[in-house]
Amino acid sequence: MPIFSIDAESCVNCGKCVKICPLDVLREGKTTPEIVYREDCQSCFLCIIYCPKHAITVDTERGRATPEPY
Ligand code: SF4
Ligand code: SF4
Repeated sequence: MPIFSIDAESCVNCGKCVKICPLDVLREGKTTPEIVYREDCQSCFLCIIYCPKHAITVDTERGRATPEPY
């Protein structure tokens, strides 16, 4: 179940999504960013908001349950 994907044809590899992700899910790659910690994605949609090419798809289902406070 992919949490999100990056469309290689639309992506211009600007790196904005890598910088903005608060959970360090992405790494810079040769042609597109790499999704290295998919299971950490919390579907916050920041990468979608900052992507100038609308190349990212994020599922609303989170990779990991949000921790509950005691
Ligand atoms: S949706 Fe949020 S947590 Fe997931 S990759 Fe994008 S910026 Fe990171
Ligand atoms: S912000 Fe969009 S265009 Fe830029 S590297 Fe990320 S996916 Fe590619």
